[in-house]
Amino acid sequence: MKNRLRILFLSSEIAPFAKTGGLADVSSALPKAFHDMGHDVRIMMPKYGSINDRKYILREVIRLKKIKVKMGAVDHYACAKSAFIPDSKVQVYFLEYKPFFDRPELYVDPNTGTEFPDNAERFALFCKAALETIKLLHWEPQIIHCNDWQAALISWYLKYEYNKEPFFSNCSTVLSIHNMAYQGHFQYDNLKQLGIPENLKEGINDLKHGDGINFLKGGILTADKITTVSQAYANEVLNDSEIGAGMGDYLQQRKNDFEGILNGVDYSIWDPETDKLLEENYSLAKPEGKAANKKLLLEKCNFPPDESKPVIGIISRLAEQKGFDLIIDAIKDIVSLDARMVILGTGDPKYHESLEKLSKTYSKNIALFLRFDNELAHLIEAGSDIFLMPSRYEPCGLNQLYSLKYGTVPVVRKTGGLADTIVDYISDSENGNGFVFEDYNGKAMVTAIKHAVETFKDQKTWQKLMKRGMRADYSWQVAAEKYLKIFMFLVNSRKHK
Ligand code: ADP
Repeated sequence: MKNRLRILFLSSEIAPFAKTGGLADVSSALPKAFHDMGHDVRIMMPKYGSINDRKYILREVIRLKKIKVKMGAVDHYACAKSAFIPDSKVQVYFLEYKPFFDRPELYVDPNTGTEFPDNAERFALFCKAALETIKLLHWEPQIIHCNDWQAALISWYLKYEYNKEPFFSNCSTVLSIHNMAYQGHFQYDNLKQLGIPENLKEGINDLKHGDGINFLKGGILTADKITTVSQAYANEVLNDSEIGAGMGDYLQQRKNDFEGILNGVDYSIWDPETDKLLEENYSLAKPEGKAANKKLLLEKCNFPPDESKPVIGIISRLAEQKGFDLIIDAIKDIVSLDARMVILGTGDPKYHESLEKLSKTYSKNIALFLRFDNELAHLIEAGSDIFLMPSRYEPCGLNQLYSLKYGTVPVVRKTGGLADTIVDYISDSENGNGFVFEDYNGKAMVTAIKHAVETFKDQKTWQKLMKRGMRADYSWQVAAEKYLKIFMFLVNSRKHK
């Protein structure tokens, strides 16, 4: 194929191997889309203790049995194994370095509930090891596509440490930021452990943020191009200091190299017509099967089998960002509506505690599942009528897109990717595909939920709304083409250097 690109895709989580949120979904679907378009794409992620070698058929790679990674005066020896994303031909290299990655969780120590204290070293090693791996493979990517802070140091290392190595002279870097609030911000002292020499003034300046060092900043200032996951969020991080979370000024400096590309949906996994995790499959042409999923969901929630009342679903990390304080504040008003609510989530212990209390007080109206459960997530998408995402901010959001496909009408706050994808039915009945509120407060949210619950009573209108969502196409092809346009631009500009 003409213009077949070699793309190395780096991410700290990839579905189904390891997942804490939307990044994992994107990191599996987007490389698959690049591959389907004929490109040579390979992925690299850390080999966490939770990844089962046998289940995913991980194989040793002879050339990658001993990868030397120099961090200052210390040499670490890692290795890498290889497998494919299930049901695809996309190759994944798992970087194995047991002292850093052989742990049951990705970022947070389950014993303390706080971040692992050596996260700076862990992910700096991941980045360096990725560069060493491709050298050992003699496989020279034209594009290194780095995702989030865990992979953000790649472009920094290329600029300041690997700049004299001809092997990398044709590599361009793209940094995709899936959430500006997660930055890899560490104490200044960590520079020593990362083996960064103190005389590297310009390089250190690119990392320095406040009185610490910041991997995301390092990536923003050194990557060739930067993207984030929706246009609205791209504007917000540039112009709203709270959402920009300290990165706004750096992004302003790189404004001409920064753009928003909306995520897509992997319909091989998230389509009610083929979803293997559902009680019964259904589709736009045959929507009847949705009822069987609702029935099972009601049973699992210990709700009476009354299907005339709407079920409001929530699947979310329990984090400040996701708007749980609105739900907690407005719970009395929510339960007074003729609806029931099912919440699936894990995260901040403070939300575990307060949601647990609420679900006990209002057990007739609220079912709470405090865990990570992919199967239940699929059932909630299919069995709910309404899907609630009252986010304070939302870079893209995937669940509102899954909900559209599953005929589960979204109620969202107008922010980031939610603003880019959901149109309010009340103010625009021609195009509306959900219910949208703007002000970040409980009252505005309850008004939007009320509109949804009221509309649900008029089943004719509701079915129309559901079907409008089910018809929408958010497949990855569109996004993948936009990324490829950036990649081609970089490859061509390198040729002309
Ligand atoms: P974020 O990346 O901010 O967490 P997204 O909406 O982009 O939010 O993606 C969240 C992804 O994680 C979705 O695939 C969602 O179904 C999944 N998810 C979140 N929490 C859970 C959970 N507790 N159990 C199962 N899946 C979950």
